[in-house]
Amino acid sequence: MTQPIETVQVDAGILQALLEVRARAYAPYSGFHVAALIECPDGSRFAGCNVETSHYKSICAEASAISAMVAAGQRQIRRVWIVADGQACCPPCGDCRQRLFEFADDATEVLLIDQSAGSAQRWSLTELLPAGFRLRPS
Ligand SMILES: [Zn+2]
Repeated sequence: MTQPIETVQVDAGILQALLEVRARAYAPYSGFHVAALIECPDGSRFAGCNVETSHYKSICAEASAISAMVAAGQRQIRRVWIVADGQACCPPCGDCRQRLFEFADDATEVLLIDQSAGSAQRWSLTELLPAGFRLRPS
């Protein structure tokens, strides 16, 4: 059965940054606001929020953060924190698991925040996406 590695406390600064980004999410159709914060091996961080459009081809928070990371020249994800409103521990959708996998290694972590508890489930990406697709396996 798929399970998180452990439950960890969330750094107050990380949570505050995520909540500020989540508040700026553009979700007029679903009303479901999500923020993601990616950390690279060098410690740089990139935030993203979901952006919806009326034709329903929306951008997830994780995809938004990945775009910011790539635009800055980064190519490796150490960990990503995710927080959604109204739901404890919102896991990334299937598309975003594959997007994260593109820039991940076996140590990449996904932290799903339960805001009401101030904690996060710590997952390995490979647990969330076993046997992810690579066009050119290394
Ligand atoms: Zn997604």
